[in-house]
Amino acid sequence: MIHTVEIQPEPPVAGDRNTIGGWPLLDAGEPWPACFCGRPMVFFFQLDVPQFAGDHLLVFQCPAHDDAAFGPAQLPDRYWDTAVDPYAGPFWRFLFRPYGVASPDAEPQLEPRRLALRPADEEVDEHGRGRSGFKLGGVPSWAQEPESYRCSCGTDMVFLCQVPENFGFDMWPMRDKNGDQAQLFLGNEVYIFACPARCHPEAAWPAIQN
Ligand SMILES: [Zn+2]
Ligand SMILES: [Zn+2]
Repeated sequence: MIHTVEIQPEPPVAGDRNTIGGWPLLDAGEPWPACFCGRPMVFFFQLDVPQFAGDHLLVFQCPAHDDAAFGPAQLPDRYWDTAVDPYAGPFWRFLFRPYGVASPDAEPQLEPRRLALRPADEEVDEHGRGRSGFKLGGVPSWAQEPESYRCSCGTDMVFLCQVPENFGFDMWPMRDKNGDQAQLFLGNEVYIFACPARCHPEAAWPAIQN
């Protein structure tokens, strides 16, 4: 079984666990994540992840540094903290915070929405590709050839969450005077893999395709 992630019409309130923007559930007193460039990252979304009972994933990325990221199948030590071409430092954060508390501030740039998780059946086609769309669990819908990753701890990563191509282009207008819009990894399809050994609270990696 998988969960589809559905956007609700209403904005979230502080303490909501499944949201686009709004109030991230971080550790008590934890600072808002910043990019290597010093900018506060954009808080894209957070979801409870049924695959890891009780755990909670938060996704952040710099508003300026948003290129696609590519890594080796065997991920290096502290890969969640390393620079990835073409940038000089980490520009996104995938955080697992099972006991998070609502941060004092809400994400200022994104139009906040509640998200709902709906149980659904996975549908895998003859090429081994799962359903498209925003979802938790199942099989990636792979725009290109399937990829696999091994965590630096030696554990094969599992597929956690899929964000479809160009998702949020209309949903997430940046509220700056340029009218720029926020997209994860340039709007590529994003398949987030995570270490099932839970060796570190940031042990997750994006496979990015289009
Ligand atoms: Zn940056
Ligand atoms: Zn690991």
